[in-house]
Amino acid sequence: MGIRESLDQIRQKFDETVNGAAVLQQLEDLRVAFLGKKGELTGVLRGMGSLTAEERPAIGQKANEIRAHMEQKLAEKVEELKKKAQEEKLKKEAVDVTMPGTVREKGALHPINQIIDEMKELFIGMGYTVADGPEIEYDYYNFEALNLPEGHPARDTQDTFYITDKMLLRTQTSSVQIHVMEHNKPPFRIIAPGKVYRADNMDATHSPIFHQIEGLVVDKGVTMGDLKGTLEVYAKYMFGEDTKIRLRPHHFPFTEPSAEVDVSCWACGGKGCRVCKGEGWIEVLGCGMVHPDVLRRCNIDPAVYSGFAFGIGVERTAMARFGVTDLRQFFEGDARFLGQF
Ligand SMILES: [Zn+2]
Repeated sequence: MGIRESLDQIRQKFDETVNGAAVLQQLEDLRVAFLGKKGELTGVLRGMGSLTAEERPAIGQKANEIRAHMEQKLAEKVEELKKKAQEEKLKKEAVDVTMPGTVREKGALHPINQIIDEMKELFIGMGYTVADGPEIEYDYYNFEALNLPEGHPARDTQDTFYITDKMLLRTQTSSVQIHVMEHNKPPFRIIAPGKVYRADNMDATHSPIFHQIEGLVVDKGVTMGDLKGTLEVYAKYMFGEDTKIRLRPHHFPFTEPSAEVDVSCWACGGKGCRVCKGEGWIEVLGCGMVHPDVLRRCNIDPAVYSGFAFGIGVERTAMARFGVTDLRQFFEGDARFLGQF
């Protein structure tokens, strides 16, 4: 067989196999087998030495054409396989947008946080800033600085959880007052919402953990009239435009004078009903003028400055607003209950 025929045969053999290649490695193997140093084409060309000078150019040209043909064919095939792989990958990763999705139920703000947010909105609108304080508190800030020295009988009603003799879980957000007054110069106008703790057993109206919002205003010439006006705005905002308030004299160690505040019943408007137990009034918070000793302890001169403070029970307010009769429901995390707000 002459070189010319061998070349034709190689080309035919190459064409037959190259189309069957399914992966890139097979193409590389083909390249080595036909065009490599020990490849078939190279082998045939080695025999060119036996050709005559007349034959050589024509055979050389033919060999070059076959080489070019093989290289082009291999390059085309590489592109084709790469494209095919890409398409398969896309097909595998394709998302069927018509498939039904996973429904995620949307949560909502807890009713306690709803009330806190509403109160923040009201008081921030009245020029208050929101203050924060630690829940683990020194005895001094929770009791002593608020005129509740060791052995004071009022401590009994606020029994709490002690970490050491001098450290406890705060029983009231009033402790934040002291931190604010110690570290700033009057005037102050703050609210301090947060969790407080008492060593109480859980029942429909008591919980060892609940929330308060403390309010404090200290400035020159602040009077009980300012306090009453502020609470009237609060009561109307929280319980409705027709709400009236009533201050009853009370005793708190850290305010003087002190008062408990009732609002006219939101259910009957004051006539007396089941909600207000026939009274027409419902107690909602405690308040008073900041005791001069408390101011003095924080290096504020009570001859120059005066102030008022109030403490609002968040759970109690939420129970009133939402008609909830059992406090425990706020803490049980039952979606059937929470889903109603
Ligand atoms: Zn009523």
